[in-house]
Amino acid sequence: MAKLEYIWLDGYKPTQSLRSKTKIEGDFSGKLEDCPLWSFDGSSTEQAPGGSSDCVLKPVFICPDPQRKDGYLVMCEVLDSTGAAHESNGRALIEDDDNDFWFGFEQEYFLWDPETNKPLGFPAGGYPPPQGPYYCSVGAKNAYGRDIVEEHLDVCLEAGLNVEGINAEVAAGQWEFQIFAKGAKEAGDQIWVARYLLERIGESYDVSINWHCKPLGALDWNGSGMHANFSNTTLRTAGSKDVYDKICEAFRPVVKEHIAVYGADNDQRLTGKHETASIFDYSYGVSDRGASIRIPLYTVQKGWKGYLEDRRPNSAADPYKVAARIIKTVKSVKI
Ligand code: ADP
Ligand code: MN
Ligand code: MN
Ligand code: MN
Repeated sequence: MAKLEYIWLDGYKPTQSLRSKTKIEGDFSGKLEDCPLWSFDGSSTEQAPGGSSDCVLKPVFICPDPQRKDGYLVMCEVLDSTGAAHESNGRALIEDDDNDFWFGFEQEYFLWDPETNKPLGFPAGGYPPPQGPYYCSVGAKNAYGRDIVEEHLDVCLEAGLNVEGINAEVAAGQWEFQIFAKGAKEAGDQIWVARYLLERIGESYDVSINWHCKPLGALDWNGSGMHANFSNTTLRTAGSKDVYDKICEAFRPVVKEHIAVYGADNDQRLTGKHETASIFDYSYGVSDRGASIRIPLYTVQKGWKGYLEDRRPNSAADPYKVAARIIKTVKSVKI
């Protein structure tokens, strides 16, 4: 007997949420190809009209569920009743069948106290001391919610997710994890499963996860991003500043198309302050954390062989759609 938790993204706009339900399988191999298609009521998730409400769940990624005896987490794509990719299905937009694109996402988020409606560490009636001491902090004065963060890290690693690191972030109650995968779809799958696990761990602490990119509004507190670090064979082997310039320039005429999938309310975050570039501008530069795209020093030191960091995607963006758009732009460049 196995408990398969089928996970998918609903059809809410502008930000999709995680949904899941459990399927019991009598005799299960643990393999993705043995996960059957399943269906759900799309009229309850804004994915279908009431009259013909069935949508199809197509399993695309599986890992053990470390928190459940005999459990597996099964990430799914959503298909419509004809078997075509549903319009909410960002994963289907990714053109990376040979897994040539590697992605490392830096997922930031706030641990949120539903009672105060503020981040952990914020007193009910006001604000903690200003930003400065919280980033990579230690000690009960500045670091809030470490037990949740540690449990999440352990569970992700046990599930086999390729977490590369975690850190406390610039605002109180704000944290980050990084996940890297060789293959854009795999990177997106792993981010979504890691988000799922964080949400579920939060339940047991009565702490919710706030993915909004600027949950404290215009006050002097950092927002949350999901920097997208990416490379393909060209970027990994270029050995030429010219190739990097060409690829970075290809992003300039399609700023609107990128911002469209980089997460809701990004105008509140990309202000030009708090280590961001203005949403209206486009810029790139070596080591420049105020640019839209940063060329990491690593890439230059390796003789222009490495990766790029698009700093604009926000914490609530869909990594599938972000990756799909970046791949499209990079592939448009003829080297
Ligand atoms: P910072 O906070 O300085 O921006 P992080 O260390 O948090 O950087 O994240 C850097 C990310 O870049 C990591 O997730 C890492 O996996 C990713 N990365 C490193 N090399 C590559 C590469 N060749 N292609 C894609 N991503 C990469
Ligand atoms: Mn980081
Ligand atoms: Mn960060
Ligand atoms: Mn970064």
